[in-house]
Amino acid sequence: RAKSEGKDRYQFFEREMTQTTKRVFELENDLRKAVARNELRVYYQPQIQLDSQQITGMEALVRWQHPQRGLISPADFIPLAEETGLIVSIGEWVLRQACQQVAMWHDQGLPAVTVAVNLSPLQFRHKALVRNVAKTLKETGINPACLELEVTESMIMDSIDKSTATMIELTELGAGLAIDDFGTGYSSLSYLRYFPLTKLKIDKSFIERVTSDEHDAALATSVIALAHSLNLKVVAEGIEHEDQVQFLVKRSCHQGQGFLFSRPVPAEDMEQLLRQIQ
Ligand code: C2E
Ligand code: MG
Ligand code: MG
Ligand code: MG
Repeated sequence: RAKSEGKDRYQFFEREMTQTTKRVFELENDLRKAVARNELRVYYQPQIQLDSQQITGMEALVRWQHPQRGLISPADFIPLAEETGLIVSIGEWVLRQACQQVAMWHDQGLPAVTVAVNLSPLQFRHKALVRNVAKTLKETGINPACLELEVTESMIMDSIDKSTATMIELTELGAGLAIDDFGTGYSSLSYLRYFPLTKLKIDKSFIERVTSDEHDAALATSVIALAHSLNLKVVAEGIEHEDQVQFLVKRSCHQGQGFLFSRPVPAEDMEQLLRQIQ
């Protein structure tokens, strides 16, 4: 009895596994062709100067317009892209797209704003990264200071010497360097001052309860103070309510990003937002 039950369970498990595996396999196959088939989209989310409420920049966020499955969020395909190595070409594509877009807006006489592009761990370790960023900056002709690259704590704390060298090379190109999701990793604070950083992005998990949870409030306050003392810009992610803005402005957090200002939007919509600040 027990034995046959075990067998049933096993067969059930096997069937489930096969379906999941098949789905992942199909998704991986589709993802391989997504760039060539022009199915990826770059959305842009504005970053706001909190005291003046002006747009100063934006973050480029990739989406996948899948022919059958619709718009897929990065959380649902970036991990797969990372696992399969496809992230390297996807990341290069996003970078190029974002820089070309900034060049186009600049040509149209729109205000110069920065664009932040996320780097993945694999992309960050890839030997062609610096060369590729240099090439993209050169070919699109944008002011390198308009590009900001986002890395995470775990990416840079992993083989510190090598990642420091990479970061130095990237900033020597003139690009800014931000730590994304700051506070969720475990960066050793003593290293922070040796990294050629320009910005800290406070993770949205702290901002969410910044006005209701005293611990999150204390952490956000500390990160802002840390950024000030290290002479870094500081951005709060995930702002959804006005009282969060009040809290952040009071502590001199420079910039904010969140649904309160705008969700990530397609380039055409971002362009409308840029026209409003002229
Ligand atoms: P991230 O870099 O931390 O990007 C911020 C995420 O927070 C975005 O999710 C954005 O839509 C979301 N967000 C912004 N404001 C709010 C808010 O007020 N409330 C809430 N609940 N969420 C907010 P998204 O676009 O789904 O991207 C998720 C993650 O996927 C990104 O987190 C980033 O780690 C990764 N990702 C996105 N695009 C790329 C890319 O081109 N390359 C790489 N390597 N990763 C990317
Ligand atoms: Mg980011
Ligand atoms: Mg983030
Ligand atoms: Mg993130």
